[in-house]
Amino acid sequence: MATMTNAFEMAQRQFDHVASLLKLDPQVSELLRWPMREYHMRIPVRMDDGTLRVFDGYRVQHNDARGPNKGGIRFHPAETLDTVRALATWMTWKCAVADIPLGGGKGGVAIDPATLSTSEKERLCRGYIDHFWKYLGPRQDVPAPDVGTTAQMMGWMMDEYSKLVGQYTPGVITGKPLGGGGSLGRTEATGHGVIYAVREAMKYLQMAPDQSVAAFQGFGNVSQYAAIGFKELLKGKVACVSYWDRDDRTSYTVSHPDGVDPRYLISITDQYGTIDKNKARTSGYVIEGGDAWLTKDVDVLIPAALEGQINGESVQAVSKRVRLVAEGANGPTTPEADEVLKSRGVFVIPDFLCNAGGVTVSYFESVQNDMNFYWTKEEVLDRLDTRMTVAFESVLEMAINDKVYMRDAAYMVAIARVVKAMELRGWL
Ligand code: GLU
Repeated sequence: MATMTNAFEMAQRQFDHVASLLKLDPQVSELLRWPMREYHMRIPVRMDDGTLRVFDGYRVQHNDARGPNKGGIRFHPAETLDTVRALATWMTWKCAVADIPLGGGKGGVAIDPATLSTSEKERLCRGYIDHFWKYLGPRQDVPAPDVGTTAQMMGWMMDEYSKLVGQYTPGVITGKPLGGGGSLGRTEATGHGVIYAVREAMKYLQMAPDQSVAAFQGFGNVSQYAAIGFKELLKGKVACVSYWDRDDRTSYTVSHPDGVDPRYLISITDQYGTIDKNKARTSGYVIEGGDAWLTKDVDVLIPAALEGQINGESVQAVSKRVRLVAEGANGPTTPEADEVLKSRGVFVIPDFLCNAGGVTVSYFESVQNDMNFYWTKEEVLDRLDTRMTVAFESVLEMAINDKVYMRDAAYMVAIARVVKAMELRGWL
């Protein structure tokens, strides 16, 4: 079976499938299958050794009918215009399904941030804003962190933007550090949001969370807080986490016979998600190859790394015990793998619903920035829980009523909301 690797082709194929289910006007489809605006800049940055390096930077704005474009900036060596297009498109559907008044955007730089010093990272972040600032703004396009970017980087970017416009403008970017315009709960938001969605899915599937076992892919921000939530909020067992080991340039799966303690693993993980495997081994953890997470005998799979991980080939190794796939990552499952999961009756919480917690708290952050009044962590996470639960229910209702796969149902809810906004604005 052919494996689809181009994320944007994947995003378009998912959209086309639902557009035909909805019998969407072909002219409307043509508008929605492509981003409205795309920017590509070559960003020169002075390295610590005095040399100059030029980085390819992107910002793509897919659709802003429902509000300003919104979406993270990814620093990853494999970043291309197409990955950014796909991620921007998924952001439009994500904000619509979460019912927050924002559109979809995404940015990226083709770089492994771990190869840069702190001051080089700061110059790259400032350079990114120097090149893109005209297209950004609280009422235009609001970036945030994604893979390879951090709260500190958002702080530098906010500062650069504020200098350029001559006004403190915290609302230009979200995911900022606490004390620098950030919101309590933003760090936990995506991972905990995944777990709120898992909790609702388990209610529907009549699964007992405290009897459930889950395998995680990735050990960055999303996976770390999803694993904590699975263990502490749902009282489930974390069988394993897989992670990308920067030193060995390969991935591993880390498991423990009694279940993984995510907080312990976090304490031996560096800022790029690489776990100290010697320390883990000494504490009784077992280290296997990076694909092992997908083959574990578990009830729940939580892919929370990159696109295309569960594909036509790898899906064959998924245990028959798996009943639920909760997509913490963006685009982890290819259309080929979807067909297999569908035929096996696996319940999938699709990415742009499952991981909408991050952008939802980003939205809360910008609201707090506008008010210049900040909520407690409890208020933030309670509001997030309500939003995630309502979003999940609206998609589940569509899936049940129209007898469609959860991903298709999520697209149906999201597309209807975006089309309605375009109609109300007189675009169609
Ligand atoms: N990068 C995150 C995502 O893919 C968060 C986006 C945001 O907060 O704007 O959803």
